[in-house]
Amino acid sequence: MSKILVDGGYLIPMDKPYAVISDGVVAIDGNRIAYAGTRSGFNTAAFRADTTIPAKGRAVLPGLINTHIHLIGAYLKGLTEDVSGQLSAGLWKRAVPIAFTHVHDEDWYAGCLTHAMEMLCTGTTTIVSQFVKEHLAMPAVRDLGIRAVMSQEIFEVDATKLNASVMDRPMRKDWLEKGLEDSRRLHADWHGKENGRITTRISPAGPGFTSRDGLVASAALADELGLGINVHVAEVPGETEFVMKQHGKRPIQFLDELGLLSERTIGIHTVFLSDEDIATVARTGMHISHTSYHVAKRGYFPPMEKVYAAGCNVTWGSDWCSNDLWKFMNMGILFPRARSGDAKMLDGWRALHMATMGGARSIGMDKEIGSLEGGKKADIILVDLDTPWCRPVRAENLPSNLVYNATGSDVTDVIVDGRIVVREKKVTTVDAPAVLKETQERAERIWARADAVFA
Ligand SMILES: [Zn+2]
Repeated sequence: MSKILVDGGYLIPMDKPYAVISDGVVAIDGNRIAYAGTRSGFNTAAFRADTTIPAKGRAVLPGLINTHIHLIGAYLKGLTEDVSGQLSAGLWKRAVPIAFTHVHDEDWYAGCLTHAMEMLCTGTTTIVSQFVKEHLAMPAVRDLGIRAVMSQEIFEVDATKLNASVMDRPMRKDWLEKGLEDSRRLHADWHGKENGRITTRISPAGPGFTSRDGLVASAALADELGLGINVHVAEVPGETEFVMKQHGKRPIQFLDELGLLSERTIGIHTVFLSDEDIATVARTGMHISHTSYHVAKRGYFPPMEKVYAAGCNVTWGSDWCSNDLWKFMNMGILFPRARSGDAKMLDGWRALHMATMGGARSIGMDKEIGSLEGGKKADIILVDLDTPWCRPVRAENLPSNLVYNATGSDVTDVIVDGRIVVREKKVTTVDAPAVLKETQERAERIWARADAVFA
């Protein structure tokens, strides 16, 4: 078992509100934190570290947690954001046909590695990912060394035939059965693997894509296997209309009626919320994966000022395409402030808390990760502060300074489960330049196959 000492630096442990330790030390023994705190509280010489990471001039904090991502989105960079037409045109015209039809099985490994490297290198140590064929993503998260909570996404309708105005959505019972079977197999093959670094959940795609029977069966499978649930809900224009027409209720109310909303569930996007929906989310304890920077690109945004006020547990998710969570924290603070005029509703420390402890709580791992405390798993990031955009540093205000001024590119070192996976901005576990080159070559072939979507 190797011992690592993160020596010096400004520690932001996220265990107490607004706490910053100016000259901190983190000692890692195996995959756990042995100590995190002031230098005077620890005998560094007696620890006998195998590796010492000098952290002077850097911020040291728990790794960020991205609670919603589709790793296969690597092949969609810059393709969906500026597509004009009907609502969410980029999603329906480009993302869905490319991801569902034109990406082949052999394209998964390089693409998933690239998207996961983006997150790892920008400070995210835990991801919650899902898509159909997610078993093809598993070797990538295993090899990269990121903490991963994975699931097969259960679709019952052909997403390539949908858009905001399609209300006729024939559900395929055979697809439901296959989705449940694939979920069961992913759990059997991967749950708890890599010393517990990889776990699985159950992911019905959402009430716009899954039948009543499918949602109930998904929840039953989650119960049987003792797993959490991820579900897209109130996500895109057209979903509320479809669910109202089909079931006579709004999406959040429909999921509540089926018993899906509870502390075991992450509701993804949750954009189109009524006041009653927000009260329901707060009452049930369902967690929200707020995809601030992502949904804003599509021209809409959830009523976060009301969601924060209701006391819901909000976390950050990126969906795909852009996965630097520092952008999501920024947008998640700024847009509701600008809309409401309330500059106090969410501050830098609380945005970081959502990215760490909030995310950990949503996946039931808050006893294991999310803060720097003795006994927790060692998921830790270092952020360079010797930059013109972060200096001068005042310790008490460091969380705000970081959230408003730093970006993911300032992350220098990343430790996951006690293993150094990024050192001085270089990935240590895979050959990153070779992966990027292969992803580029594969993307060009995918886009050639998908020629029609660019017309
Ligand atoms: Zn999604």
